[in-house]
Amino acid sequence: MSDTNNKKNNVSDLRENLQHREAEIDLLQRTFTEIGSELDLDNLFQLIAERARELVKAETLLIPVLDVNCETYTYRASAGVNSDEIVGEALPLDFGVCGWVWRHKKAWWRGVLGDLSEDERNRWEKEAGSLILVPLQGKNHFLGGISAINKVGHHEFTRRDFNLLNMFAGIVSVAIENAMVVQQMEQTSRMNEDYRRRLKIMNKQLLESNRELEFHALYDPLTSLPNRSLFRDRLSHGIARAESAHAKLGLLLIDLDRFKDINDALGHDKGDYLLKEIALLLQQYIHPDDTFARLGGDEFAVILPDCDRKSILERANAFLKALEKPFIINDSTITVGASIGITVYPEHGDNVTDMLCRADSAMYSAKKLKQGIMFYEPASDYSPLGYLTMVTDLRNAMENNEFELYYQPQIDIKTNQIIAVEALGRWVHPRYGVVKPDVFISELEQIGLIEKYTSWGIETALRDAVAWRSSGYDLKVSVNISVNDLLNPDFMRRLDLIVGLHEDGELLTFEITENLFLSEYDRLFEVLEYIRYLGISLSIDDFGTGYSSLSRLKKLPVSELKIDQSFVKDMEQSPNDEVIVHSTIELAHNLGLSVVAEGVQSAATLQRLASLGCDTAQGFVISEPVSADEFAALMASSQAKAG
Ligand code: C2E
Ligand code: MG
Ligand code: MG
Repeated sequence: MSDTNNKKNNVSDLRENLQHREAEIDLLQRTFTEIGSELDLDNLFQLIAERARELVKAETLLIPVLDVNCETYTYRASAGVNSDEIVGEALPLDFGVCGWVWRHKKAWWRGVLGDLSEDERNRWEKEAGSLILVPLQGKNHFLGGISAINKVGHHEFTRRDFNLLNMFAGIVSVAIENAMVVQQMEQTSRMNEDYRRRLKIMNKQLLESNRELEFHALYDPLTSLPNRSLFRDRLSHGIARAESAHAKLGLLLIDLDRFKDINDALGHDKGDYLLKEIALLLQQYIHPDDTFARLGGDEFAVILPDCDRKSILERANAFLKALEKPFIINDSTITVGASIGITVYPEHGDNVTDMLCRADSAMYSAKKLKQGIMFYEPASDYSPLGYLTMVTDLRNAMENNEFELYYQPQIDIKTNQIIAVEALGRWVHPRYGVVKPDVFISELEQIGLIEKYTSWGIETALRDAVAWRSSGYDLKVSVNISVNDLLNPDFMRRLDLIVGLHEDGELLTFEITENLFLSEYDRLFEVLEYIRYLGISLSIDDFGTGYSSLSRLKKLPVSELKIDQSFVKDMEQSPNDEVIVHSTIELAHNLGLSVVAEGVQSAATLQRLASLGCDTAQGFVISEPVSADEFAALMASSQAKAG
């Protein structure tokens, strides 16, 4: 019976064991599947802690893991009784059972007590008699361990438990090492990402500062237009393209007229503002393939690719027309004219330097001859004389009496009678013939001979006027006075010598350009007053091309305005010009000034001026400027006709 019972007991033990095994195998299988797909290290440790506890039926299970510093270990996960308390705690590597396992490179359980010395055995039995600590060993180094503390139900861990946990540790070590590698890779990739992001920011900053550098090297900071360097580069490419396409290319050099005066009068801030406005204005007339640049100061330039002479001229005209628009600065209306010099590839040059130099020379001629726009002409490069020859010749001209005054009559529009003349200087050059004042006056100014010339001019004009008076013609003579003359401290003394002695000042009018008044008003006031004191009248020449302000005009001791010929010449065709002429006449009359219209070229214009109430007219329709002899003959014949 007892045999049968024993057998029964054995069979049920066996069955229970078998069930245990099956449960263990099932647990191990589940665990390995789960940890195989878990790459988050913390989750993995937690999973291992729970499964290991289940496997060996431990009250508490801890996972100590070696820290990166390799000097401490930290409890990274736990399961079971009081488990939370210890998680996160770091201890020195040689401390406790973990230190023992690390030092001995083998697992700890009470089974090893027999191998220890008596002292050690006594110590460890108390401290760690009821725990198993198996190492987690990676391929290359020690990772930490799995520590099972106290078997559930006050039992002791068996060798089987020890073996099971050892096997378990061996297998999960691989998963832990994998997850650690993944974590490291993630960290590295995060660092890489961070590094790449910072690199990107640095690159962007570098690019921006490069762009800024490039901008300063190639663009004009005031107008943001290409500067001279970039312009030369574009021109060189433009020429190369035109060459291979057998096309033409136009280069326009646009130089503002009188910009220096504006700058002096209004100050540099306003001057800069005006330049910006002009750049914006002209920009509207630039086509997508053109290059528009500011070469410096008041000089702009445009490249017109694939253009013939006719279309280049049309474009240049459009720019000039645009600049007729007045700008309003400080309540003053300012019109800034310009002179444009043009070169065309290939006829005027096949390289950047020639194209630019020659456009500059054409621009210079356009300015001197008041032509607005001029194409480059090899024959008229600078002047018919050439600069150096002209300077030497001019010095001699004074000594050799080569200057002459031509006279252009002015008529009273109401009576048609000649009442005055304008004296216009001519240089009768021994080889080149009559040279116009546009060419030589500014040179005289530059070489310091203008004062001498003007004294001669005033003296000659006055002598002729006195002579005409004695012949019965009561005519006033207008003389053009240069700014340099008025600014010369010696001018009043010399004037006194010429005019004061004869007391014939009433026969003279001095023509002074409008621009002068704004820039030098205070300095000039005394000399203007002295001129008036000598009985000489003052007239404002070329009125309308500058930027006189009404309030200034009122204070000046002037008695006459001469409307610039650019408004008068075309007033029949241009309603705008007519409006300007009309309003100038009104304005002058309101200020008690008489008005002379210059550049009257047709009878129709003369008639229109009469109906607008203009006082005096001067222009080719009446007579071109003529020599003193011719003028005397003209007066005689007109008197004969009247008689
Ligand atoms: P400005 O004082 O405005 O003189 C009028 C200019 O217009 C003269 O040119 C005259 O010949 C021209 N003109 C007159 N009527 C007509 C016309 O109906 N149509 C056209 N297209 N032009 C006409 P000019 O003699 O060549 O003198 C040019 C400028 O040179 C003068 O302009 C004046 O500013 C300056 N100038 C002339 N002589 C002297 C002088 O002795 N001293 C100084 N400082 N400047 C002078
Ligand atoms: Mg004049
Ligand atoms: Mg004039």
